Amino acid sequence: MPTTETALASAEAHSAHNYHPLPVVVASADGAWMTDVEGRRYLDMLAGYSALNFGHGNRRLIDAAKAQLERVTLTSRAFHHDRFADFCAGLADLCGMEMVLPMNTGAEAVETAVKTARKWGYRVKGVPDGMAKIIVAAGNFHGRTTTIVSFSTDSEARADFGPYTPGFEIVPYGDLTALGEAMTENTVAVLMEPIQGEAGVLVPPPGYLAGVREMTRERNVLFIADEIQSGLGRTGRTFACEHEGVVPDMYVLGKALGGGVVPVSAVVSSAAVLGVFRAGEHGSTFGGNPLACAVALEVIAMLRTGEFQQRATELGDHLHHELGLLAGGGPVTAVRGRGLWAGVDIAPALGTGREISEKLMDRGVLVKDTHGSTIRIAPPLVITKEDLDWGLDQLRGVLRG
Ligand SMILES: *Cc1c(COP(=O)(O)O)cnc(C)c1O
Repeated sequence: MPTTETALASAEAHSAHNYHPLPVVVASADGAWMTDVEGRRYLDMLAGYSALNFGHGNRRLIDAAKAQLERVTLTSRAFHHDRFADFCAGLADLCGMEMVLPMNTGAEAVETAVKTARKWGYRVKGVPDGMAKIIVAAGNFHGRTTTIVSFSTDSEARADFGPYTPGFEIVPYGDLTALGEAMTENTVAVLMEPIQGEAGVLVPPPGYLAGVREMTRERNVLFIADEIQSGLGRTGRTFACEHEGVVPDMYVLGKALGGGVVPVSAVVSSAAVLGVFRAGEHGSTFGGNPLACAVALEVIAMLRTGEFQQRATELGDHLHHELGLLAGGGPVTAVRGRGLWAGVDIAPALGTGREISEKLMDRGVLVKDTHGSTIRIAPPLVITKEDLDWGLDQLRGVLRG
């Protein structure tokens, strides 16, 4: 087994520097805890950006994966397999929708949503060929493909990756007037995160999502909710849209759908929308494979009980209460979020988000900074209240200096 030092040096030399990870080398993990190659333990307060909502090594998910590994792992979509129909029907039902188009990563699902909206625009709405427009929000994060970074407002994500894909319009997040003004008869979709994760866990103003819903319905425009990070229990509901009583035309799902075991993503919508696809028009070799479906079926069954959503609500209330005590003139300048998910702005005098994250690491807590002096807290939903309190103690310790 490598030591921390040799692993870091080798990664520095042989892996592209497209990430700046904290200098911890994880060797194993269980529940909300990770252990590094030196045997040190860390509380995971990031949960793989919500890909690990059900914790590391979740017994039900590992057992489902192991059982499927012994039967069949890949068929390609050239053939049916015996987990596929159950997965699609189960996920559609969980979402209150009719049809599923499975992919692997989040970015692929967003690409699929973009292609679906455009095809729907031409075939159903009657938009003139090549004229379809999709409206997105400033500060968005929808993935890393060339088309998706084309409508990012983050210069790091975009710079030197042009030429950019046309057909997107960017409006300020939370501004209904701007959205109304940006819509034309060629608008086919509004694509948004109901809570912006990478932007720092930004919750839009009350009524915004409901307003987007109303406006898109009136103008025959699809409302596509990217719930890849916000969905599947994180905010205390199955979908963050539910907090405003909003049902979009399409959910884009990923991250936790694969249970932290395999990449599984999907677009979920009505038959009227996903029905636009004909054979050969879109696909993926690995999308909807037996192993992915077996794990995701278990994820769906776990979400059906509501227990994870309830945990996220209860622990989230506690988390936000405790963080609120640090805010307001203290070391924390703002706290945002919903459920077991928080963006915490640290007073710049106390250090950058990166520096705070490194200090927390030294105390055995792993989080991730975003945008300067914000840290993001999103532990697995299986974390115990005692562990959460211990993690918050470490945060208070770091902020005291
Ligand atoms: C992570 C994320 C994506 C991209 O998912 P990948 O699996 O990394 O491609 C897209 N949208 C949102 C909201 C995300 O958080």
